Amino acid sequence: MAIPSYTIAAPALRGVIADIFDAAGCARDEADRIGRYLVSANLAGHDSHGVIRTPRYIDWLREGKVLPGQTLSVVSESAMHATVDGNYGFGQTVGPLAVDLGVAKAKAHGMSVIALRHSGHIGRIGDWAERAAEAGLVSIHFVNVAGGELVAPFGGVDRRFSTNPFCVGIPGVDGKPMLLLDMATSLVAEGKVLVASRGGKPVPEGSLVRPDGVYSTDPETLYGPLTPETPRDPANGEGALTAFGLHKGSGIAFMCEILAGVLTGGETSGPIPGGKRGRISNGMLSIYLDPGHFGAQDFVAKAFEYADYVKASRPTTPGGEVLVPGEPEARMRADRLANGVPLPVDAWQSIVATARSLGVTTPN
Ligand code: NAD
Repeated sequence: MAIPSYTIAAPALRGVIADIFDAAGCARDEADRIGRYLVSANLAGHDSHGVIRTPRYIDWLREGKVLPGQTLSVVSESAMHATVDGNYGFGQTVGPLAVDLGVAKAKAHGMSVIALRHSGHIGRIGDWAERAAEAGLVSIHFVNVAGGELVAPFGGVDRRFSTNPFCVGIPGVDGKPMLLLDMATSLVAEGKVLVASRGGKPVPEGSLVRPDGVYSTDPETLYGPLTPETPRDPANGEGALTAFGLHKGSGIAFMCEILAGVLTGGETSGPIPGGKRGRISNGMLSIYLDPGHFGAQDFVAKAFEYADYVKASRPTTPGGEVLVPGEPEARMRADRLANGVPLPVDAWQSIVATARSLGVTTPN
């Protein structure tokens, strides 16, 4: 069943979202940045991390769970690494600051590692790999979400991980978009269960596990009993999302918790001792590599030669096509920049309601 939607031009959408955060108390440059990165997620086709987040971000701002105007506090630092605390500032503010620090160190020394703790929701991780790629750097990111426990480990039914994204970016060349693996380690993102619960595309087999250990595709596994009006709150369900790739994906999700939650000095997805319940914070351990430092001649050109070889694999279905990581996002961005960003009617209405609550007018 197709979900009724509006289509909005990206610049107009950015403007509305920025006006909302401006009216909610963010400085204009921060409001613009939040608008830019939320719309960037929609342009990449990752709508679950786009402007649909606005009402929730505004609730968090009002509740003091995310703070405007924050900057990074340096916890420890050397020439090639830094551990930094985001102080629960917007991920759209402390995220790029952390990337820029990693880029500067990698440019000077060939490589760097930045451990970021206590970032407000840091959105689509591909944005950070893209920022590093613009500076000519390869980057690798392990991320966890303290306070966002949703995913059962392989063989278990109780939630232990968040949707812990993992991301690798390789700079583009000759006008070709960068190679970008940017993925949650859950089989599906929570947003996809949300869409299914509203009558949209069902989630694939094995996406959810019930408390009795039976795999399920029923959104009530995650949200509890549902009517059309029931808020979709994972706190009401007794089941869990599953990790992708059986024990292997579950293992990557586990290592995201260890690297992004523990090594950064932040928190894992488990109960937070003395922590503020319901406060989401991302940890991100990022590695930045300057290809020139490694003595691999023509690294980027060779990476793309190899990508072409991969793409030349014969498709499984007649007329099919092999894509490399990042291609779906690049194609979607080109399409949505040209034709506008589609937004389900109820997502747009919830943004309009948030705007009105702050005295912000929205385009018809
Ligand atoms: P996805 O499954 O749509 O895509 C995952 C990866 O697979 C992408 O790199 C994509 O380019 C590639 N891909 C997709 N289709 C392909 C195909 N047919 N052939 C080859 N490659 C293909 O993404 P997802 O796992 O649903 O993640 C969604 C977004 O959510 C990501 O941007 C992620 O960073 C974000 N996220 C953020 C958080 C957070 O806490 N901030 C948590 C979880 C996820």
